[in-house]
Amino acid sequence: MQTIKNYINGELLEPIGKTYIDNYNPSNGKVYSLIPDSDERDVELATEAALKAFPIWSITPKGERSRILLKIADLITANLDRLAIAESIDNGKPIALAKMIDIPRAASNFHFYATGILHYSANSHSMEDTAINYTLRSPVGVAGCISPWNLPLYLFTWKIAPALASGNCVVAKPSEITPMTAYLLSELCIEAGLPKGVLNIVHGYGHKVGAAISAHPKIPLISFTGGTKTGAEIARVAAPMFKKLSLELGGKNPNIIFADCDYEHMLKTTLNSSFSNQGQICLCGSRIFVERSLYEKFKTDFVTLVKKMKVGNPADKESRLGAVVSKPHMEKVLSYIELAKQEGGTVLCGGNQVKLDGELADGYYIAPTVIEGLTYNCRTNQEEIFGPVVTIMPFDNEEEVLMYANSTQYGLASILWTENLTRAHRIANNLHTGIVWINCWLLRDLRTPFGGVKSSGVGREGGFEAFDFFTEPKNVCIKLK
Ligand code: NDP
Repeated sequence: MQTIKNYINGELLEPIGKTYIDNYNPSNGKVYSLIPDSDERDVELATEAALKAFPIWSITPKGERSRILLKIADLITANLDRLAIAESIDNGKPIALAKMIDIPRAASNFHFYATGILHYSANSHSMEDTAINYTLRSPVGVAGCISPWNLPLYLFTWKIAPALASGNCVVAKPSEITPMTAYLLSELCIEAGLPKGVLNIVHGYGHKVGAAISAHPKIPLISFTGGTKTGAEIARVAAPMFKKLSLELGGKNPNIIFADCDYEHMLKTTLNSSFSNQGQICLCGSRIFVERSLYEKFKTDFVTLVKKMKVGNPADKESRLGAVVSKPHMEKVLSYIELAKQEGGTVLCGGNQVKLDGELADGYYIAPTVIEGLTYNCRTNQEEIFGPVVTIMPFDNEEEVLMYANSTQYGLASILWTENLTRAHRIANNLHTGIVWINCWLLRDLRTPFGGVKSSGVGREGGFEAFDFFTEPKNVCIKLK
């Protein structure tokens, strides 16, 4: 059985306490590796290593930092198959998805920020003949990066790459539920020649390792992606220390479909935006609002296609859905389906655990589920489920659907389908979310600001916004006479 190690000061180390956590393969419910059960002592060691590495890394020329990070990107690409299989075993997602999305994107994250830093510049502000101001931007120090289990390497690298490119050292914690690709990344960082202590990865529970990172007085900024409740806890701990915080949190995204949409394109994309990664993407559209004149046709066609989506072995090419990430998560998702029934919903398809045969009999599989007949403000339509479950609801006009769409505490992303250009702009302007996709979903340009409003988070990642977060500006004013 493979034993994962922490990556501290350039070395792969056992946790100080010498205890380990079982790591489950969600496709068969069996323990297949061991994860360090690290604690605040390991975080302390990692922070000391990062603090020691910072003075040199922060003044290492950008070109040199870029060269090393590009090497890591190349190594991720060279190990595409190995990493995709590891991600699938750890998380339950189809290998094909990990190969197409997760791992290539992890390489792109390094590539994008390794080259982006070469083009990042600060402002100057002239006061005509009186003075000139220029802004210096310096790395902040040791960055704490904490990431979730749904897109493990993809989201882990989305934080680490800009932090390192802009000259910070990092103490990072992947989700304890899916730590394998972060461990493999630490091996690739050693191979790429990343200097000791620049990146440190401490594995373990959120309430131990994550909490120790958030509370550490020498870690002045935290980049976190995860649930809204955890984000609130991190903010509570970090705020009195005035840490810089970037919080990318939960979502309950509306998918708004008008009758004039490009129907076939919408239908195909809506299958993906509902059920990709077993619905465990923070950007999935879980509340589908359909204009009443199209509602019955959409319902019939959508449910027919959803019933054909194969739930199966993540290693099989034909599987559209693999396993959800863990037993407790499966139970949580199934409990929401029960809640939906109690709230008056009708399950049109799915609604149950799927039992596969043989080796996979104890895996955590859920049939893609479509529910109708719920009010916009019931719990099922207000709380994040984060699984292969969507609700469908008819609407009569723009005003009504905007009220439905904006009614939750969340504000991460929305999806809008219409061929009416004026309406598209008008609705996009009135949706209370950080991201709006019109006639598409998950089309990502890494230069754009990424993040949510309301309980979906604070701050933006992506493009130069990430460099702004991972650097501290200093204005210098020079009087000219
Ligand atoms: P959690 O909030 O449970 O965990 C996220 C990370 O925080 C994990 O590494 C976790 O460790 C750690 N953690 C847990 N408790 C603490 C603590 N007290 N202090 C510091 N760190 C802690 O989220 P999930 O992993 O369950 O991920 C799913 C959530 O992430 C969903 O709500 C989803 O919407 C959101 N998400 C948001 C995205 C966005 O861009 N806005 C993108 C992707 C997901 P451990 O796993 O060991 O508990």
